[in-house]
Amino acid sequence: MGMIQTLTCPSCHESWEITTGHGILHSTLERVLKAFPQDTQMEIRQEVQGQLAPIFYFNYRMASCGRCKNIVAVPVIEFPESGRSYTSFCPQCGTSAELVILKEDASPTCPRCGTEALSVEDSGRWD
Ligand SMILES: [Zn+2]
Ligand SMILES: [Zn+2]
Repeated sequence: MGMIQTLTCPSCHESWEITTGHGILHSTLERVLKAFPQDTQMEIRQEVQGQLAPIFYFNYRMASCGRCKNIVAVPVIEFPESGRSYTSFCPQCGTSAELVILKEDASPTCPRCGTEALSVEDSGRWD
């Protein structure tokens, strides 16, 4: 089940609406792979090579992009058996170099003005 979250900065009044979690469409690895760039898809295929039913967790996670200064939702796939995870690029600026995945229980810092208490509001669900 996915969630729609609205983040608002009390200081500079910037706000972002992002969709996190995952939908019904993301239950198979083949479909999930499309959310990642070509070279990452190759790495993931190598990761699961020879496994009939690899165990994975896929979610859109809240992230802060230091390049374009936005809060975004990025696809992240995790393989619990190897402990490895793979992240896609920022949907706003297309790079992954300065993406920081945010912890779910921490209140995120505003990438625009640096205020440390963005308010996070659940504004809906998707799937
Ligand atoms: Zn701000
Ligand atoms: Zn970006």
